[in-house]
Amino acid sequence: MQHRGEFRVSVAKDYLVFASAHFITFAGHRCETLHGHNYRVRVVVEGALDPESWYVFDFVALKRIMRTLCDEIDHKVLLALENPHLQIAEQGEAVTVAYDGKPRYVFPKRDCALLPVPNTTVEMLAEYLTGRLQSVLANEGAKGATTIEMEGEENFGQSATYRLKLGSDP
Ligand SMILES: [Zn+2]
Repeated sequence: MQHRGEFRVSVAKDYLVFASAHFITFAGHRCETLHGHNYRVRVVVEGALDPESWYVFDFVALKRIMRTLCDEIDHKVLLALENPHLQIAEQGEAVTVAYDGKPRYVFPKRDCALLPVPNTTVEMLAEYLTGRLQSVLANEGAKGATTIEMEGEENFGQSATYRLKLGSDP
């Protein structure tokens, strides 16, 4: 049988959620107050068929990986380490957050997810999760995957999608 078309597998499960606190900063001098969302995640992996298994990627493995990635940031305060308006510092068991030099929050360190993003918008969270998935897939030897598409939903019917072609990195 010929397989001229392309394949994509997608996973969207009730347990692919993370309930997390965050706040974003806006252009100028405006910063949201702390609040939370029940984020949901949906992922699509495109690629070539595994020549022995005839699948793009094992669903069981993909679900397990995505659940682990969600668990990493579930029930955490999401903090954007690369935000130029925020000064985030670890002090013993605490994380202090200042906005434009003014002290704003102190959190227990174990309750924080310090993320390498410029803002905790759902766009940036989708990109972050894509990067995490990309590195796990590489470690697990998923050679056939060509594209990852990650959708993060912040509120019902309000989502952002990030799409990354793999193998385009230098
Ligand atoms: Zn929000």
